[in-house]
Amino acid sequence: MRAAVLHEVGAPLSIESGLRGADLAPSQVRLRVDASGVCHSDLSVANGSTPMPLPMILGHEAVGTVIEVGRDVGKVRVGDRVITSFTPACGACWFCVRDMTNLCESIPTAERSVAVRAHTPSGDGLHAMAGLGAFADELIAEETMAVPVRSDRPAAQLALIGCGVATGVGAALNTARVAPGATVAVFGCGGVGQAIVQGARIAGAARIIAVDPVPLKRQTAHALGATESLDPSTGDVPARLVELTDGRGVDYAFEAAGVPQLILDSFNATRRGGAVVVVGMHPATATVTFPAAALFASERKILGCMYGSTQVRRDFPRLVSLADAGRLDLESLVSREIQLNEVNDAFRAMQAGEVIRSVIV
Ligand SMILES: [Zn+2]
Ligand SMILES: [Zn+2]
Repeated sequence: MRAAVLHEVGAPLSIESGLRGADLAPSQVRLRVDASGVCHSDLSVANGSTPMPLPMILGHEAVGTVIEVGRDVGKVRVGDRVITSFTPACGACWFCVRDMTNLCESIPTAERSVAVRAHTPSGDGLHAMAGLGAFADELIAEETMAVPVRSDRPAAQLALIGCGVATGVGAALNTARVAPGATVAVFGCGGVGQAIVQGARIAGAARIIAVDPVPLKRQTAHALGATESLDPSTGDVPARLVELTDGRGVDYAFEAAGVPQLILDSFNATRRGGAVVVVGMHPATATVTFPAAALFASERKILGCMYGSTQVRRDFPRLVSLADAGRLDLESLVSREIQLNEVNDAFRAMQAGEVIRSVIV
């Protein structure tokens, strides 16, 4: 098999062939990867802001076809088209039985991140990001992380459901439960932010204000449902948002850039009793400080948002249905289809603000 491997923080990924996939455990499946999105979280591992054991095959947002199943696997079959999830959703733990499968405790994140899922020709083990390692032509996943979907949509579109779209649409529909008629601000309009804009639109928000310094991202947000946009390089965004809402602040502010200061900006842009939704993946050591009296007296809510509170077996098919009905635009999120060996350029394009998503096909 081929894969894009991170050997050293800050170094380009190396494209390696002749790798040998690990043997399947009884609970695992092997997929042929049909498409894999390049997400900001991959970059966070590559640049060290999210430390991970190395060497590691990056990638965690994929669609594939099941080519082999372990002996205990019962929910998926060879030939199934599946979208990958990076939560195992065992279905049996305290969290899973209470509809919080995104917080499933059956396989701790740390354990998944150190999983060795392939070997080099000389026998060195390669870890797999999020227990997936989707920048490859094959990957191994726990059965519970491979969610079957029935869809003829292009692979590049379906792949995005596995991380960015589930996270963003889920943040609006599941975590925040945006109310019809609401005013929403979205800080950061990359792949996740564009999906939040769409989730807010699907929920019936009246005003959706996209905040991003990159013109392409503001324009895309308008095409996907934003009613207004702000360029943070031209002024004080929280003050502008308060001004735009008759001095009240927005009902919901979503932080989707993974910048700690923007959590505070979101707080300052939100009305009394409103909600700040922390969607971005922040550096592991970052902290944020809130004014204690305002937190108490203004009754604003701070909502953590892990994977859009997504229940993958319920929500992946729901997202496919919304796309098929023309209510969720996946096509506009795919800026470029690339080959595996172009992944480093995809990181560059991401940082340059040239793309919403590059997808390896
Ligand atoms: Zn991601
Ligand atoms: Zn569980």
